[in-house]
Amino acid sequence: MQNYDMLVVGAGPAGSSTAFAAAKAGCRVLMVDKKKVLGQPVQCAEYVPRLLLSKCSISKDSIVQNIASMMTHLPNGGTIETKSPGFMLDRSIFDNELAGNARDAGVEILSDTTCLARKGGKVMLKQGQTNIEIIPSLIVGADGPVSTVGQWMESVNKEFITGLQYTLPLTEPQEHTEVFFQPEFFGGYGWLFPKGDVANVGIGVKMNSKHEKQHPVMNAHNTYQHSLLNAHNTNQHSLRKKLDMFVEQLRDAGMVKNNPVSITGGLIPVGGPLKTVKNDMLLVGDAAGHTDAITGGGIPQAVICGEMAGRIGGRAVLKGEIDLLNEYEVEWRGFFGQNLENAVEKREILESHWDELDEIIDKCWVAFRGYYGNRP
Ligand SMILES: Cc1cc2nc3c(=O)[nH]c(=O)nc-3n(C[C@H](O)[C@H](O)[C@H](O)COP(=O)(O)OP(=O)(O)OC[C@H]3O[C@@H](n4cnc5c(N)ncnc54)[C@H](O)[C@@H]3O)c2cc1C
Repeated sequence: MQNYDMLVVGAGPAGSSTAFAAAKAGCRVLMVDKKKVLGQPVQCAEYVPRLLLSKCSISKDSIVQNIASMMTHLPNGGTIETKSPGFMLDRSIFDNELAGNARDAGVEILSDTTCLARKGGKVMLKQGQTNIEIIPSLIVGADGPVSTVGQWMESVNKEFITGLQYTLPLTEPQEHTEVFFQPEFFGGYGWLFPKGDVANVGIGVKMNSKHEKQHPVMNAHNTYQHSLLNAHNTNQHSLRKKLDMFVEQLRDAGMVKNNPVSITGGLIPVGGPLKTVKNDMLLVGDAAGHTDAITGGGIPQAVICGEMAGRIGGRAVLKGEIDLLNEYEVEWRGFFGQNLENAVEKREILESHWDELDEIIDKCWVAFRGYYGNRP
């Protein structure tokens, strides 16, 4: 049985950023992911703001194109264009490069390896058909919206937007993203994010509301992909119908053409940030509820809080002072806690006034000054 300073569960942007920072601090780190091929399938619309460049390097290979602005289509038919400098990524390349950086820094990485359970100091993993037991000093849950480590900490996401997305050919390349608010996308929106000749076109809808039927039954993030494609589930059927109708609108408007070349989807936690430290465990990224409750974006937070978790967790383990872990929660709350809480507040207003979407959208969407209230 092997001992590690740190076990990182999940090799997405949060896990790889955590593992990299911890290895740099001098820790012996194991990172595991249940995916057979890291970064695949991609379950993301793949936009990141340019500001992320100040926190992590983004290689030319992982950038598909630049984005200059965002066009918001309002429920009353109006549009508003706002600056939104950023990039469309190839998430598979981006995730693999972050994992590669971690590997180069000395992190051991096991793919096709699921973290199953912990008993006292031991953690049970399963790689293919092989059971593995390890003893880590610190466990980091970077395992996405439905987190196993979060369950051990009794700190789990409870509210989700369900996202469903096609990739399909664009009529013309463009340098702006498009966001569509429509009454049938309860709690969420439709999007068209361009990627060269194609675009990620999707919808996000809150399924567990009076506007929608029950939330689809999903016991793990990745089984969602499978159930989407084999949907007999009425909720997913209704989501797909909405997406097909949305695509039809975009086709009629001359924005996209032909049939989808791929489909993906996933859950986006929108209940706000969770408690992220308990005993010898930390949560980061989607597992920590770090996703923005209004935009659904979570890549920057995953990378930034991953660096904090790895650095602070690494120091705590190497010094043998587990109390230092609390500094992690203090640091990420200081950095973006206020923004995340503001988004949660706006989501509550948005959902409770959904029938008056036209009136409240200018207080609840990031394209408007009203969203930021009195904050500088
Ligand atoms: C449809 C959709 C569109 C989105 N679009 C955007 C966007 O345009 N921009 C943006 O910033 N954000 C977007 N997001 C959110 C973004 O994808 C997440 O915030 C981001 O991936 C969070 O990174 P993470 O590392 O925390 O989690 P993830 O990327 O989900 O990684 C978690 C990893 O943990 C692994 N895992 C889970 N459980 C276990 C286990 N028990 N054992 C081992 N491994 C496990 C998974 O296989 C996965 O690889 C979107 C999300 C969805 C669903």
